[in-house]
Amino acid sequence: MPTVETVQGAVDADELGLVLVHEHVRFRDDAVAAQWPERYDEDAEFDAALEAVAAAKSKGVQTIVDPTAMFGGRDVRFMKRVADQTGVRIVACTGIYSYDHLPHYFENRDVDAMADHFISDIERGVQGTDIRAAFLKCAADAAGVTENVEKIHRAVARASVQTGAPIMAHSMPSVGTGPRQVEIFSEEGVDLARVQIAHCGDTDDLGYIEGLIGSGVYVGLDRYGLEMYLPIDRRNATTAELLRRGHAERLMISQDYCATIDWFPPDAAEAFMTSGAIRNWSMTLVFDEVVPSMREQQVMDDATFQTIFVENPKRWLTA
Ligand SMILES: [Zn+2]
Repeated sequence: MPTVETVQGAVDADELGLVLVHEHVRFRDDAVAAQWPERYDEDAEFDAALEAVAAAKSKGVQTIVDPTAMFGGRDVRFMKRVADQTGVRIVACTGIYSYDHLPHYFENRDVDAMADHFISDIERGVQGTDIRAAFLKCAADAAGVTENVEKIHRAVARASVQTGAPIMAHSMPSVGTGPRQVEIFSEEGVDLARVQIAHCGDTDDLGYIEGLIGSGVYVGLDRYGLEMYLPIDRRNATTAELLRRGHAERLMISQDYCATIDWFPPDAAEAFMTSGAIRNWSMTLVFDEVVPSMREQQVMDDATFQTIFVENPKRWLTA
């Protein structure tokens, strides 16, 4: 039986059980948090993470895949505390979450040097611990696949080829980043069956999504609750149609929930709720509203549920 690295060590892949494949127990800027730690309430962050993960656990979730990378405040010790206290496994990543910016450190080092950092996280351990990263993360957003973004993608790809670790790539369907991201992975010799293009559910352009699925990758319908990108009824219509068309084995359903996130001051975060830009965003929304809707539309029986929340994450995480 293949094993998967979690923040509590390696487990048999079969033990992962029910998986939420894209959630963040905390999201904050690495540099700001390091320079002005007093601006953050670590106890409150920890409590929020516990609350969110416990809620997911109450829906049967046994494992959370947390793709928080560099620039998202990745902290595997924090993740391990959350896993220890909740009894929910957390799977950590390595990689760089940037839409373009790179520190001079990486600007002046080549792709292979960057990849070596990722490989070290996968083979030896992260942040001075023996906790190993299980997958690789990169991102392309509104700016598209810039030179720096391409460099990160190639480094992630080379680390994947060398270690066998799978890849999750943040994408932005509104500017069509997905196909170029897949193309780079393909050029670098990555097994596309180990690639997950996240945030494809931000569009209901079925042709775009099916084009990606056709290349052999997984697609993330993983931002349920973020109405600003696409409201839930349109997300559900897309998910239902993809299921009707027989794509269950390529879909990843999640919420990209952040138990805490420092991107906005508190009043702006409040305004997102009241304006409806965010609605019922949580680590349980897919079980509260999405699965019931799919069941009602008769596109998700027990076997399909198992495929999406158990088998697909397991298959993606293992060779
Ligand atoms: Zn995310």
